Amino acid sequence: MPEGKIMKALSGFYYVKSGQDIYQCRGRGLFRKQKISPLVGDEVQFDISNPNEGYIFEVKERKNELRRPPIANIDQAIIVVSAKEPDFSSLLLDRFLLLVEANQIEPVIFISKVDMLSADELAKINSYQEIYRSIGYQVEVSSTKDGSDLQQLMPYFSNNISVIAGQSGVGKSSLLNKLNPQLDIETNEISSSLNRGKHTTRHVELVEIAAGLVADTPGFSSLEFDQIDLETLPVCFPEMRRLQNDCKFRGCMHINEPKCAIKAAVEKEEIAPFRYKHYVSFYDEIHTRKPRY
Ligand code: ZN
Repeated sequence: MPEGKIMKALSGFYYVKSGQDIYQCRGRGLFRKQKISPLVGDEVQFDISNPNEGYIFEVKERKNELRRPPIANIDQAIIVVSAKEPDFSSLLLDRFLLLVEANQIEPVIFISKVDMLSADELAKINSYQEIYRSIGYQVEVSSTKDGSDLQQLMPYFSNNISVIAGQSGVGKSSLLNKLNPQLDIETNEISSSLNRGKHTTRHVELVEIAAGLVADTPGFSSLEFDQIDLETLPVCFPEMRRLQNDCKFRGCMHINEPKCAIKAAVEKEEIAPFRYKHYVSFYDEIHTRKPRY
């Protein structure tokens, strides 16, 4: 039975790419009963009924899945944050990083609009870059006038499924359009970030960019932590994850516990104090959230 990857979902059809061919498939009738809902990005087995038509027979186990937009098996998220207008916010960046890490997706930080900075502001952004790099994150900076210095991003796309994430107003959609001019994505990002509960009727599609696949819809439009539990939180900060075995208590949350290696490292500024501050505020946010029913 042929295997392939779902590239697009539209009106009950799944477009499965196998080799160089695209097959228009429906899901097996049984899927509804089993509550299996194939997603863009899924690896599937399918039966060919007519030339270029078929039925999806089996959906392979996913490594991860996003709800908004609905995509499975994402390898990496390019987090676009701006240096200016809106001003750079390490809090917002850390929020995105937590969401991306919690979904077991590899983040790449892309700081846009660096060309708008004064010398002082640039020095500050450079020191942030250094901190994030020292944590182990990949950081790229856009230095062109139009904030879209993209060549450096190209190598990241090969052999990966990527989503573009980031605050509104940083140019996610224009970035996607520049990566693949055939996309012609609406550059109005505000609607997607403000109407959290409201779904747009647009379909989701994976498009080929630089030998990889990129979702044509920006990811992580909701910045809520409602899918993240407390135990996951410390694991999503790589610099804390590395030290956690040095804490006296197993399962140390690095908040009030004695002999905590993370708090000691923050004291010595081996862990950036602002990162720890954000960690604590995320802890409080998850800890005090109302249970969902
Ligand atoms: Zn600790």
